[in-house]
Amino acid sequence: RAKEKGKNHYQFYTPDMNETNMRRVLLEKEMHKALEKGGFESCMVVYQPQVNVATGLLTGVEALLRWDHRELGIISPSEFIPIAEESGLIVPLGKWALRMACLQNVAWRKAGYLPVRVSVNLSPRQFRDERLMGMIEEVLEETGMDPACLELEITENMAVQGADYFVRKLAELRSLGVQLSIDDFGTGYSSLSYLNKLPVHKLKIDRSFIRDLNTSVENAEIITSIISMAHKLNLKVIAEGVETEEQLNWLAGNGCDEIQGFLISRPLQAAQLERKGMLRR
Ligand code: C2E
Ligand code: MG
Ligand code: MG
Ligand code: MG
Repeated sequence: RAKEKGKNHYQFYTPDMNETNMRRVLLEKEMHKALEKGGFESCMVVYQPQVNVATGLLTGVEALLRWDHRELGIISPSEFIPIAEESGLIVPLGKWALRMACLQNVAWRKAGYLPVRVSVNLSPRQFRDERLMGMIEEVLEETGMDPACLELEITENMAVQGADYFVRKLAELRSLGVQLSIDDFGTGYSSLSYLNKLPVHKLKIDRSFIRDLNTSVENAEIITSIISMAHKLNLKVIAEGVETEEQLNWLAGNGCDEIQGFLISRPLQAAQLERKGMLRR
């Protein structure tokens, strides 16, 4: 999708878009600089709670990157992730984020908290990278992370290279003992009619369906069919972007397993999460 957008920018060239392109070039340069300095010190990983709908208890957290540039200020991942993706910098940056998330998880365990699952987003470029398996094994080994507590989020769009390849790749990842979930489910090009063949544990219903839940009968129907299909296949379902009690109640009444969203909490720094008492001993 990012690529397509990029093309449009060149097709409909306006002074305004020129500015967008200049910003892209600047951010890419700044990212390279951060990497050359031997790390991503200006980056940070924040964690958004995921809770069980029935019990209200924390089940996991999603690790989300933040970039706080000393001059440019906070840059949103929806702006810098696509740039990192196109330039290939997502490979080292994604590894850094995974490593940080694993180190934090191990630190929580050592501090006596109950095991908590951490979900880390994989980008299409990382997914295609032939060193992916080795990279994850290395990070698990080096950090002492329990693979069973690590969940990797992939998207439907990563299936573009064909169903067979996709299924094989997922099976390889799963053989590491990690959990797999399909992020932004329902927005991809593919209908994933072969969902029954995918070795994943969970579907994350995209925020757009949740947002329009109260105004769109179709969306409500899409969600109920995703939930019933997932449960038939023994998959868990989590809804992302839950902002209101109304949405939560509807999801609870329709069998959704877990939720994530501003209603529960915004993404927080590890120390904030501890202070709020969201982690349990
Ligand atoms: P995502 O993986 O679908 O992550 C969920 C996004 O929804 C996050 O945005 C989160 O802050 C936001 N969100 C959660 N609950 C709510 C809510 O109730 N309302 C609203 N309006 N938004 C909510 P964020 O952190 O800006 O990240 C955007 C995207 O950037 C992520 O979407 C993910 O695709 C990408 N991203 C972030 N960190 C990483 C990373 O470490 N690696 C990769 N490859 N991508 C990342
Ligand atoms: Mg995600
Ligand atoms: Mg998502
Ligand atoms: Mg999303």
